[in-house]
Amino acid sequence: MTGFLQDLNTRQREAVQATEGRIRVIAGAGTGKTKALTYRYAYLVNVLGIDPANILCLTFTNKAASEMRQRIATMVRSGDYNDFVCTLHGFCVKFLRKEIYRLGFPKSFTILDEEDSKALAKECMDELGLKRTEKTVRQFLEGIATEKALNGYIEAFMLPQSQVSDAMRAGNLACFTARQMKQWALDFDDLMNFTLFILDRFEDARTAWQEALNYIMVDEAQDCNLDDWNLIERLAARHHNLFIVGDPDQCIYEWRGAKPARFVEFAADKDIFLDENYRSTPKILDIANCVIANNRNRIPKDLFTRRAEGRPVIHFHGKTESEEMDWLTGQIRTLIAGGAALRDIAILYRSTWQSRALEQALLNAGLNYAIWGGTRFFERREIKDTLAYLRLLVQPDDDVSFLRVINTPSRKLGRTFLDALKGIALREDCSLYRALLAHHAELGKARASVFVALVEDGRAHVDTATVSDLANRILEGSGYKKALREDQDEERLENLDELLASMRFYERSHAEEEPTLVEYLQDIALYTNADYREDAGSLKIMTVHQAKGLEFPYVFITGLSEGIFPNMRTIREWKKNGEEEERRLMYVAITRAEKALFLTESEGYNVATKMSKYPSRFLDEIRRDMVVLEGSIPESLWRGTRNMVHVLDEEHYMPEIQPLAEVSGDGFAADRAAYNSPFSLGETVVHDIFGEGVILSANDDFSSFQVRFSDGSTRFLRAPFLHRPDLP
Ligand code: ATP
Ligand code: MG
Repeated sequence: MTGFLQDLNTRQREAVQATEGRIRVIAGAGTGKTKALTYRYAYLVNVLGIDPANILCLTFTNKAASEMRQRIATMVRSGDYNDFVCTLHGFCVKFLRKEIYRLGFPKSFTILDEEDSKALAKECMDELGLKRTEKTVRQFLEGIATEKALNGYIEAFMLPQSQVSDAMRAGNLACFTARQMKQWALDFDDLMNFTLFILDRFEDARTAWQEALNYIMVDEAQDCNLDDWNLIERLAARHHNLFIVGDPDQCIYEWRGAKPARFVEFAADKDIFLDENYRSTPKILDIANCVIANNRNRIPKDLFTRRAEGRPVIHFHGKTESEEMDWLTGQIRTLIAGGAALRDIAILYRSTWQSRALEQALLNAGLNYAIWGGTRFFERREIKDTLAYLRLLVQPDDDVSFLRVINTPSRKLGRTFLDALKGIALREDCSLYRALLAHHAELGKARASVFVALVEDGRAHVDTATVSDLANRILEGSGYKKALREDQDEERLENLDELLASMRFYERSHAEEEPTLVEYLQDIALYTNADYREDAGSLKIMTVHQAKGLEFPYVFITGLSEGIFPNMRTIREWKKNGEEEERRLMYVAITRAEKALFLTESEGYNVATKMSKYPSRFLDEIRRDMVVLEGSIPESLWRGTRNMVHVLDEEHYMPEIQPLAEVSGDGFAADRAAYNSPFSLGETVVHDIFGEGVILSANDDFSSFQVRFSDGSTRFLRAPFLHRPDLP
């Protein structure tokens, strides 16, 4: 009956069979934690005869939960695993569906996603007369979250019987919750808070759930935040059968409030340590151990494996991004020719904007791919909006593009206005834009006229300006970027930066033909209308965060440049802790690989730092004899990396550099200046009198640079007085 336990090692078996009490498994990546947990589930059901309705099995992402459900399904009788294998928020939803009636809410309450919450926040800000220039939507929502973290808001604001006084009503929270209550809507914080509230206030509910959940298991427990812990502990308070597994080296959500200390300090009746990695070859594991050893804030542990040596880990350095992409697709073809299946391959990157180059390369190479937990680059809203504007410039009869952008960003041109416009277009048998062009004055909407002026200005420049200039003109002129900046929507801004950078690349690589906007749009249509199937036969591309807990035979980690991975913003905001979290993320990325690992990066323009690219510090931390280098890296690039580390860590760089990219009016000019800058951030330069120094920052037009010299002094110097060490 317990034959299936033969698949496990002694300590895993011990973990499976220790069903009673508080058990903690602490172990590194790929040591079979999740495997032990799923086998434990099967053991409880198959051997002890526990009803699955009495087992709660929690994990972190939807992907991981569905993976776990699949693993369990293969081991228990069909129909024998229920949906208590879920994420924490998933559990809250199930809980509330049964219990929320106690608070006077309907069982069919709705859930606000991030976009819904933003929309509600904007309505509130308008109602309260809060200017977006003074407070961003994100700050408003952060304020709401902070208020909701304090006790008492549910009773004060969110129950049908709540007495909201006039004084309270003037506050942000009252305004926001009133709108929520109108549609019985809960945001993500509410899901957790309501669950805790009900467990707290209703003894019968608490007893019933504590009684029912005989066994509770939590995967990836290092990423739980305090609320998560409170919920888990409360649910386990009757039976005390709590099984948690985790790896402090893989905590990658501290920026969202994860409290790995709670995992480390957990009062366990029994601890189980696993140290044999079954996933990766020794070469891959050595690299993972080597990188993570640089974190000071950790409990040292090393993993070993008995797997065969396997292939060497390859670090490819390209002179350009295209070279990096060509090499990557070439390697994939070689793998396929050697018998690998596409579904065995995963490509990981740090930030979503990085998928652009990758997706274009894969589409060009005819390699079928799926993005996990994300949207394809050319399907992202901000990219589609920009391209729709550009299309309208060359094709004023394109109603689809017109409708996409007429109110993007919001110009408050409502349904009545659009209906009137449609009426005119129908009468005059013309497109919506042409109708607007001819009649905007009489329609009496100032903002509609501004829109016409914007499009006409773009149209007047179509033959003379470059594609990227046109795009930038529109993005700045329409207020599109400004709205994103006000929302602090870094991800979308990064995607737009990446789009502009790719347009500039397009212009450079087609310089001789002087490509027109029409030609650009035709060429890009290949990517925007890409016909694809997301099936088992596709390779996977995803951010490292999405890859947590998963494994793939062949893993590529791309874009390993300083400032990209590690992410510059994380280091800037969180300093040393940020660096360590980025390193844990790198550890997660490396340890996803089973048979082969490829690390790639290239020289060129760095969208993140708006400067030149240097190899990531994490590559520098890997002993050179542990990887095979393909492509040659001049020593000066490694020097660049080290200088960059110095500069990023010392925080000298941002105040001067960052605003440049966002100079009001024409961000692109600054961007381009950055691109043409004679020196890069962190580069070593020589001054004839002061000697060798490092570039810390630059002035607006990159004609002067702040340099720190070896004696620690810093000076602003004009560019012609500085030169590179290897030049006279
Ligand atoms: P992570 O930290 O990345 O979440 P993990 O510790 O949860 O990793 P698993 O995903 O459970 O590790 O296991 C890693 C791989 O090793 C899986 O392919 C699993 O099937 C295999 N494995 C685990 N334990 C054993 C074992 N005792 N014998 C053989 N293979 C095993
Ligand atoms: Mg796992």
